Amino acid sequence: MNRIAIKPTWLITMVSEPLRDHWLVASAGRIEFIGPSMPSSLEIDCHIELPNIAILPGLINTHSHLEFSDLSVPLVADGSFTKWIGDVVSYRRSSTDDPLTSRKRAIQCGVHESYDSGVRYLVDTITAPWSVNWVQEAIDDCSLPSDVAKALTGNVPFMVQACPEVLDIRMDRRDATQSHCREVNRSTVDRKWSTGRQAISPHAPYTASLRLVRETVQWLKEVDGIASMHLGESRDEIAWLSDRSGPMLETLKSFRDQHYLENIGTLHEYVQAIVDAPVAIVAHGNYLTDGDLALLATHRKTAAIVHCARTFEHFHAHKSYPLADRLAMGVTHLLGTDSRASNPDLNLWAEVQTVANSHAIDPEQVIAMVTRSPAELLGLSDLGTLEVGKRSLCTAIGLDGLAVLNVDQALNRLVRRDTTAVPLERHLQGRIRGMRNAESGL
Ligand SMILES: [Zn+2]
Repeated sequence: MNRIAIKPTWLITMVSEPLRDHWLVASAGRIEFIGPSMPSSLEIDCHIELPNIAILPGLINTHSHLEFSDLSVPLVADGSFTKWIGDVVSYRRSSTDDPLTSRKRAIQCGVHESYDSGVRYLVDTITAPWSVNWVQEAIDDCSLPSDVAKALTGNVPFMVQACPEVLDIRMDRRDATQSHCREVNRSTVDRKWSTGRQAISPHAPYTASLRLVRETVQWLKEVDGIASMHLGESRDEIAWLSDRSGPMLETLKSFRDQHYLENIGTLHEYVQAIVDAPVAIVAHGNYLTDGDLALLATHRKTAAIVHCARTFEHFHAHKSYPLADRLAMGVTHLLGTDSRASNPDLNLWAEVQTVANSHAIDPEQVIAMVTRSPAELLGLSDLGTLEVGKRSLCTAIGLDGLAVLNVDQALNRLVRRDTTAVPLERHLQGRIRGMRNAESGL
């Protein structure tokens, strides 16, 4: 068995003040020890000191759509969300490549890009076609062959929660998406990179009836599953829900059938339905009312808004998301990247930087939105913090001058816009090569 001991300048455990010059010992993908000096009882194969490095828990992205990861730039928003949705649908249909090949390539690019930027667990909202083997291959690509990497990751460098979409804007779409959803959830159960938990995403109120959301949540209650839904995302959605007006009225007309129209609800009814799930993720929530937010605050342990900061900027130039006010109301917030159809990349740390640099919020609280808080909400008992017994899937940030900063300065400095997050084993790859013959013994 290989056991590695690492001493960075800062260990950001997310359960205590950041620890300076502490050792973290890992073996077979688990943390075995954290402390200021090494106990003599532990046999260590490799000691590595990492000056000017901060180590954080692996980052958790709670809202993404990897199927758009082959887009080189986001689709222009031009102020109209409905037009953007139309462009997304056209983009899906425009590829001249074989649809399976292009979809597989996009999803695998998304896994690679997420892993490269320090994400270790990701909730992917998916539509057909999708294959568990595509994800498996992409995660296998992320597995570095070195013993050091194996000690840290235990062969599971990246985890995915598949969250298949269901919608019933037309009846035939309901049957097709529900059957795909069952297939996806069945296929992921026994994969090492999956917790085996079931998740479903009723797409959005303009494509999924309230009845479908209620039925979905009812089913998720039986299996202790996760519900994720786009809610209160755009003004167009609000216009459609409040009095059947706005651009969605005409643009989506040919897609809708009577069953959907007879079973639609108000925004508040959708929020009520979704918070009833064992775990509820509300993607965006930009236009929720105080009544909706109060309901989310009541369910703060099981329901959260995923704020996608750069996607918000994409659609709302010069506006500010009221994050501080909503946190003060007690609404749990997490961060996500959404997709490359609205975001230039899948770098979750850039979402942290965007939020930390545009709101007066303590950096520890912002980092918690991609580590401790999503782990607590999703019941990921071995992720989200650095503690003995948890997975040693760590994210590293290197920065000259870290060693001369105090605790508060270090966190403030880490979230500035010029820092880069990477998987710890990726960072070690270059260093260990030089140490292999000298002191590492691996
Ligand atoms: Zn989304």
